[in-house]
Amino acid sequence: MPTLDTHTAFEAYERMRHRFLQADFQKTSLNVERLETLFEEADGFFLDAFGVLNVGNGAIEGAKMFIAALREAKKPFFILSNSASLPKSELMLFFKQIGFIFEPSEIITSREVLWHYFKPESQTSWGVIAPHLHTLEHSFLHTFHTQEAFWESDGFLFLGSASWSESFQKRWIDSLHVKPKPIWIANPDISAPRGQGVYSKEPGFYTLLSEEALFTHMHFIGKPFSEIFEYALSRAKREWGIDKERIVMVGDTLHTDILGGCAAGVQTLLVEGYGFFAEQKVDMFIENSGIVPHFRLKNYEILFDT
Ligand SMILES: [Mg+2]
Repeated sequence: MPTLDTHTAFEAYERMRHRFLQADFQKTSLNVERLETLFEEADGFFLDAFGVLNVGNGAIEGAKMFIAALREAKKPFFILSNSASLPKSELMLFFKQIGFIFEPSEIITSREVLWHYFKPESQTSWGVIAPHLHTLEHSFLHTFHTQEAFWESDGFLFLGSASWSESFQKRWIDSLHVKPKPIWIANPDISAPRGQGVYSKEPGFYTLLSEEALFTHMHFIGKPFSEIFEYALSRAKREWGIDKERIVMVGDTLHTDILGGCAAGVQTLLVEGYGFFAEQKVDMFIENSGIVPHFRLKNYEILFDT
């Protein structure tokens, strides 16, 4: 698995800041130490998955207490994840295996939002970059990146990078220089925490950092871009009757969860101890980026110490 460290991923995000939405940020953050403080400020929650609920294949145990507290306080939530490798049914199975039981309606993935916006014409062939050769949830003309016909596609969908490689990447970028094609990327993340200090390279690493000539043909679905927030906020209004000002986006990554949340007009909480910033001095990253969350939380246990 190709990997990269937090500093490299952070610097890559910073270099690409001009490609993200503009947002206004707080001057300072409030360190959250009591659950009540958070519940006074918010009626509903959006929760990131990787780095907030789990690290790689392991659950964050404190997150289970946090979810239970949300349910007990009747604070509705959506898991808002850039996970696009798997159909939602399989993602739910993964969560169940590590001890999180969610309703399908409680999870919004960038893959699900992609299908909401992606409307292929019947004659167009799409090359799909995805690690698992599952049947896609929608039928349209497509091949996967392990098939030779992939390279002749009219456009591409980048869902997951687990079986993508540097040699595939080189061939792909070379071919796009010869003939640019539309590309939809359903996971703008540059990296994801896999445990033991290992961070995988995600689809954003292979696309977001491209030169301008290729970038103009790319359409990103997922945090920090707006579609996933618009989709979640319209559901929150319709199903919960809650406005964005009373929602907190909980995430571990400044450039996706916090920047995207602030641009969408929700409040934001950075969970520091598990994912993107595990083992890091977070103050420095906040200072250098100017991406200041409304709230900061070192770990979930603080909220449950009596
Ligand atoms: Mg995350």
